[in-house]
Amino acid sequence: MLLLKSFFILGQFIQEISGRFFRYRLSPKQKEILAKHFLYYSSLRPRHQEEFLTKLEAILSTKQFIGRGGMKVVTEEMKVLIGATIVQVTFGLEKVALSHFKKVLIYPDSYYSRISKAYHRGEVNPRYGLIVLSWQSFVSGLADSNDGVNLGIHEVAHALKLENQIRYNGESDFFNPVLWEKYLEQSRQERENLKNGSDDFFRERGGVDDHEFFAVALENFFERPEKFKELKPTFYKTLVFLLRQDPITLKSGG
Ligand SMILES: [Zn+2]
Repeated sequence: MLLLKSFFILGQFIQEISGRFFRYRLSPKQKEILAKHFLYYSSLRPRHQEEFLTKLEAILSTKQFIGRGGMKVVTEEMKVLIGATIVQVTFGLEKVALSHFKKVLIYPDSYYSRISKAYHRGEVNPRYGLIVLSWQSFVSGLADSNDGVNLGIHEVAHALKLENQIRYNGESDFFNPVLWEKYLEQSRQERENLKNGSDDFFRERGGVDDHEFFAVALENFFERPEKFKELKPTFYKTLVFLLRQDPITLKSGG
């Protein structure tokens, strides 16, 4: 056990050192892509934009982006926009970088999973530390930025919930347990309302289980926070405290 722990500490140390020496630097073109295509970033106040860029460079220094299923080239645009989604979801949780998830696999479109024998647009694999995305679905989620459907946020939210429970790497347990209980209690009521048809703010996918509901709740939290807050002020506030950020007040106009 002790040996295993030392092994992980050593691994973390090497990763941290290599991240420091081979730090990813965003090119002016990538910053331009962000400003143009990533509304969350472009709406931030300048001070927060600086923090966002610093975290994004740290994330890109430690994650590997790999093309799959005929995706021959992973472009700088793909890296910057997927990395930015990770920063967005974890922006309030300063030290959280989803370090268990070291690889992002990118497929051109929906892909066939041999395990579930079905087509997927995205998934996370905690066993191998993978976040898997269809680029086409990622882009369409980003393009319509206030319909409450965003594949990137959805999959990163799955990874975030899992990362909180992973005990070995020193990054887990970042959710305040009292707030998490509060979240679970309120989310169960929301799921119930969704399933019995008395409320359709969250899309159907959220009714599947606790994991799916969390991912769908975060899609709405980031894509249409004003509407969310207006319709469900208590639940919205719980997410603000849990994620330690309020997408409404983070905006320069807010
Ligand atoms: Zn899901």
